[in-house]
Amino acid sequence: MNLLIMGPAGSGKGTFSERIIEHYAIKHISTGDMLREHVKSQTELGKLAAGYMNAGKLVPSDVVNQMVEYTLAQDDCKAGWLLDGYPRTLEQANALEQITERIGRPIDAVIVLEVGLETLQDRITTRRVCPQCGAIYNIKSHPSKVPGICDQCGHELIQRKDDTLEELEVRMTEYHQNTEPVIEFYETKGLVHRIDGDRDRETIFGDIQEILDRIG
Ligand SMILES: [Zn+2]
Repeated sequence: MNLLIMGPAGSGKGTFSERIIEHYAIKHISTGDMLREHVKSQTELGKLAAGYMNAGKLVPSDVVNQMVEYTLAQDDCKAGWLLDGYPRTLEQANALEQITERIGRPIDAVIVLEVGLETLQDRITTRRVCPQCGAIYNIKSHPSKVPGICDQCGHELIQRKDDTLEELEVRMTEYHQNTEPVIEFYETKGLVHRIDGDRDRETIFGDIQEILDRIG
């Protein structure tokens, strides 16, 4: 089963991606992790990407596209994959069409998490992270046992620099401009499943499971 997951920052993409890959035993591919892996293992593409990153520049789409093709063609992706954070633009969506065709692994579904702006604002400003172990908390819905201290490693929790309302607005503008046309693109192919992300986690995951069980 080959899937895409989309939704604005704070929509719960990370949480539901984890549950989907666990439940369906497919490979999670986030472009951030993929880039880091290529750079770390010094592949040709990784070296190319590192050049841009070290210069403080965005890694060009064609480099990212080649990495995606390389990754999706690996054996550990045979059982299926969940792409997270890609494609971000129509240009990348078109590239992914060609990639999936070349490697013979077409997209089965596109899960879109829809969350109201107020919920996003609320989630972003109440999120706290542990800079040491990466654990994520929410002072309202998922607080640490001792306020401000990580349950897992005891480090002090912080609010991420970009978890602000101003940054949310920037990300939402980018989402409307770039990602919504991508969703429309998949809509015409009949692949989009919109999920109301304003509900509790179990209800949301139940819906996702129902959709994916029908497909898989
Ligand atoms: Zn921690």
